[in-house]
Amino acid sequence: MSDETPSGIPSHRPLPSVDMPLLRDHVRQTRRRSVLAGSVLLAVGLVAAALAWWRADDGTAPSASPAPAEAALPVPVEVGFTPPVDAGPAPLDGGAAATPSAPLRVEPTEVPGGTRTTHAFGQALGFRPALTNAGLEGREADAVTVALTDVMDFRRCRPEHQMTVERDADGRAQRFEYRASITHIYEAVRRDDRWIGRRVDVPVERLRRARGGVVQNSLGGALEQAGLGRSMVGTFVDTFDGRFDFNTETRGGDTFRVLVDEERIGDHSLGFGTVWAIEYRSQRRGLLQAFWVETRPGEGDFHDETGRAVHGGWLRTPLRFDHISSPFNPRRMHPVLRRIMPHNGIDYAAGVGVPVWAAGDGTVTFAGERGANGNLVSLRHDGGYESFYAHLSRFAPGLAAGRPVRQRQLIGYVGSTGRSTGPHLHFGLKRNGRFVDPGRELNGPGRALPAAQMARFRSQMARLRGELASIELPDVQAATDRETPAPSDATPRDEGGMD
Ligand SMILES: [Zn+2]
Repeated sequence: MSDETPSGIPSHRPLPSVDMPLLRDHVRQTRRRSVLAGSVLLAVGLVAAALAWWRADDGTAPSASPAPAEAALPVPVEVGFTPPVDAGPAPLDGGAAATPSAPLRVEPTEVPGGTRTTHAFGQALGFRPALTNAGLEGREADAVTVALTDVMDFRRCRPEHQMTVERDADGRAQRFEYRASITHIYEAVRRDDRWIGRRVDVPVERLRRARGGVVQNSLGGALEQAGLGRSMVGTFVDTFDGRFDFNTETRGGDTFRVLVDEERIGDHSLGFGTVWAIEYRSQRRGLLQAFWVETRPGEGDFHDETGRAVHGGWLRTPLRFDHISSPFNPRRMHPVLRRIMPHNGIDYAAGVGVPVWAAGDGTVTFAGERGANGNLVSLRHDGGYESFYAHLSRFAPGLAAGRPVRQRQLIGYVGSTGRSTGPHLHFGLKRNGRFVDPGRELNGPGRALPAAQMARFRSQMARLRGELASIELPDVQAATDRETPAPSDATPRDEGGMD
């Protein structure tokens, strides 16, 4: 007999709502039969064989027992949650139950017309056990599980997530809320005898922020000082690429201004969203400006003052990065393999988990693990192009070969999988089957806005320029030596970033 029940269900699968007394009786009966059979054999005189058989049987009988009990159970609820061990009736052998560690409990608080209780998901071994920990009774827990099955992904439950149960004055549960984060909230509400589940729409407020600063030591440092964060270096480098080289032309005393949306829920800041306009005033190159033109909510491109897209329709850097750790180089000495090997892409150093976006509209051709590339995504685009994103820590949910993607759509997260010495994105590009330098290739003259959109663009630009001009710069001492290049965050550094 194996670890599987006769119905073929592996025994580590949770058995929903197996009734303990019933199961114990069954185990007891099984044992009684074993003992009886053992006695008969003893009587025949096969003492040694009987003992051996009885021991073996004693070990296997309990694992076979849940199956008959299962027939009497309500239809098992398939919740798609695969806990590491059996969450249900563990103590088949009558031993101590593996008690799930006590969930965080908050005493019921009085609310108009009833009470509300909040619990952490804690160490519950599945969604349904968590519901019973939170105080829902068996039937309610089943109904809530069913109501939320297609609404939320139970595999993403985490110990710190909060569950709230609201009861009416009679103590009947009326509403269940699952709060994974400030933006990810799910609820199930009782309607007569049914429970209806849905994702709660959390309105995100967008507040326009106007920030500026003076470069003293580095652009990243100045951005940080202005409360924008270093990751915005990438936006500057990317947007003004081809017009300004942040590696060699940055000088102390250069200034920048940014108009950006801060996304908030109540008093809680979620971070920065769309950058509407950026400006860099270089002592070497003069004034650089770019203005965001939204094509679809959350999508678009920067345009220069003539209405030309700065990226030629591509997202040249498909993430917010810290610095380039290895440029495209057909004759690179490989830092680990110590031989000349082409570096067929650009390595962008960034933290694990930083979102990676599709560089352009296209179709997923591959999403999976592939040798030294680690977790790899490749996309096919119009014009004979294919783009590659390697070493990802994980993929965007639902990403699969054959699926269409749009520019700036999330495809995965920065990681260090495959042959990699640290977290970075390897971004590669093929044109007609040959690797090309994405830095050069995607920097061609951008698409001009259609003539019909120019009038609107001009008035929008005038307004944004007015807003930019009104940003006051902090009164800092400009760098003393204006000819000393400020160390730039965009400097390519050899940090052993690989392939
Ligand atoms: Zn690379």
